[in-house]
Amino acid sequence: MIRLAIVAPCYNEEAVLRSSATRLTEVLRTLMEKQKITDDSYMLFVNDGSRDNTWNIIKALHTENPLVKGLNLARNVGHQYAIYAGMMQAKDMSDAVITIDADLQDDLSCIGQMVDASYEGSDVVYGVKTERDADSRLKRMSAQMFYKLQHKMGVDMIYNHADFRFMSRRALEALSEYPERNIYLRGLIPQIGFPSTTVDDRISERQAGESKYTLSKMLTLALDGITSFSMKPLYYLIGVGIAFIVISMIIAGYVVYSLISGSAEHGWASIMLSIWLVGGCLLIASGILGVYLGKVYSEVKQRPRYHIQDFLD
Ligand code: UDP
Ligand code: MG
Repeated sequence: MIRLAIVAPCYNEEAVLRSSATRLTEVLRTLMEKQKITDDSYMLFVNDGSRDNTWNIIKALHTENPLVKGLNLARNVGHQYAIYAGMMQAKDMSDAVITIDADLQDDLSCIGQMVDASYEGSDVVYGVKTERDADSRLKRMSAQMFYKLQHKMGVDMIYNHADFRFMSRRALEALSEYPERNIYLRGLIPQIGFPSTTVDDRISERQAGESKYTLSKMLTLALDGITSFSMKPLYYLIGVGIAFIVISMIIAGYVVYSLISGSAEHGWASIMLSIWLVGGCLLIASGILGVYLGKVYSEVKQRPRYHIQDFLD
């Protein structure tokens, strides 16, 4: 039997936390009764620097419910790092970890299926969203773009999989060996390479509270995913540069022609246009270079990814 840890990152989740704990307790108890997981399996709530009552609720749950453990991070470090902190904390106290968002929008019946899959030999089991009816149109559309863009840019990832997944201890150990500071788990974990499989995850609506993933957080995540795993944007820049040189040669040909034929025009508008166009492209290009350079900068500093303030065992 495996000792299972369910890790849930929580950022300002006071509205939904109690009901989530109740639902996860049911899931764990059922699996214990079926003798699929050990009786000391547990759930670990990671408080990611919430500004509301989240940590107090986790403390209360910890005293009421023997299945609840809590990890309090020193400040808000973001979803990816909060998950990572929880996984690393749970790694040495369990045989496997399932990460799931604290609002439990994912299909809880997947948890049992993931455990079954692990007995059949999988080290990593990805929850793949099959239906997203509960998500808003904007969310669905931006998510589609997110996955397509990353795929185009050559990031090796599982389509429609977010961070609902099962990982064996061996896979977690492997993950802990990646020293980089910029972690993008959806790109990193497929690179580990142990046997893996997927289960179908039907998304339901958030039961309480609001989405903590604003559009800007999603864009940051998407950009992070691409620039952490793909050099393609840098090569595209070279392509754009070459295209510009070709265009400028055509323009030069036209200028020579109009000088010879004596039909030179004033051309104010076309000059302004090209100045702004080229200027804009150069700015985008240096911006892309800057993003990569910034990543190198944050990697060489090797700063800690998070600090643990309290742990409730
Ligand atoms: N979250 C976090 N830190 C943050 C933002 C979000 O730990 O800075 C957690 C949040 O508490 C939730 C999960 O990440 O458990 C996913 O957030 P949410 O459900 O709001 O995103 P959505 O499902 O709308 O994409
Ligand atoms: Mg959610």
